[in-house]
Amino acid sequence: MNKQMDSKILGLLNMLKGARGIAVISHVHPDGDAVGSVLGFYHFLKKIGKNTVAILKDGVPYQYSFLEGVNEVRNVLDCEGMDMCVLVDASEFARTGFEKPELPVIRIDHHKTGEFYSEHDLVITTAPATVSLILEILKRWNKDMIDEKIARMLYTGLLTDTVSFLHANSFPWAFRDALFLSSITSVEDIGSLVYERKRKAFYYLLVRALERLTFKFWEKLAYTYIKYEDFSETGASAEDTDGIVRHVISIEGVEVGVNFIEYEKGVWKLSVRGKGKIDLALLCEELGGGGHKNAAGCSIKGTLEQAVSEFLRIFDRWAKYL
Ligand code: 5GP
Ligand code: MN
Repeated sequence: MNKQMDSKILGLLNMLKGARGIAVISHVHPDGDAVGSVLGFYHFLKKIGKNTVAILKDGVPYQYSFLEGVNEVRNVLDCEGMDMCVLVDASEFARTGFEKPELPVIRIDHHKTGEFYSEHDLVITTAPATVSLILEILKRWNKDMIDEKIARMLYTGLLTDTVSFLHANSFPWAFRDALFLSSITSVEDIGSLVYERKRKAFYYLLVRALERLTFKFWEKLAYTYIKYEDFSETGASAEDTDGIVRHVISIEGVEVGVNFIEYEKGVWKLSVRGKGKIDLALLCEELGGGGHKNAAGCSIKGTLEQAVSEFLRIFDRWAKYL
């Protein structure tokens, strides 16, 4: 841990300690890191006697429903009694799906792109996951208060954001955190709880997505799509798209994989994954989105053809790095 981060966390801690009410919030379509960060931080704050609320506009996806306290997460932004709002694992407040409240906001995150809200924002792009930053804060605040429940929440974020320790963002910080968290409680079952409880509807969507695979740019770009109607026709919900883009990027020779998902009629949410040749956070930023170098996203309005051609138009400028 470098000195700069240490002093950053001290300033952040002073601000947190001085607040009586702290709302913890993350992005729409929350992933494991968003859920783990919100729940872990929320439970810690509650335990040390703060007034706190956990907020996720889309609630907790079923993949993470095994975590304790998921029923306490609210899907409305009610900041009554709150002195500040902590935005976790999201590059900007708009990603929460709510308007920014009239409260001081601090951002704790590891995304490369985004907005800053306070001098105490803790944005460390080398952190394996946002839960790793939460863990650093909790350790300095009161290490003894990190209990089994909190450890499981944080481990879930770590496991999923590193894609089960597959990606380079895992080393060696992620392994140190995994060691620490697994010394507090047993976490061996979490991988199976997250990844081996898929609903049949996931596979119905996956079959459609695989049938629609399209290759461009010397077969180094692969994309597929899920239409709005696919959800009702297969009985799938938004959570069932999770992991489909991994199949696209897992193809040999493919350097960038994209899933265009129409959650809302006429709005295509792009899940973009890469293997290191192109900085996808920067590419997606050109389309109003952001994320990480190898995992990013954005939204494009219009028909499928329009969304695809808009993406290809931007991609064309990056294709020289393939
Ligand atoms: P996913 O494909 O799993 O939805 O997102 C991949 C990564 O990109 C995540 O870290 C997510 O937070 C980020 N991301 C996805 N969509 C957007 C977006 O529209 N704007 C920004 N700033 N980040 C996004
Ligand atoms: Mn994350």
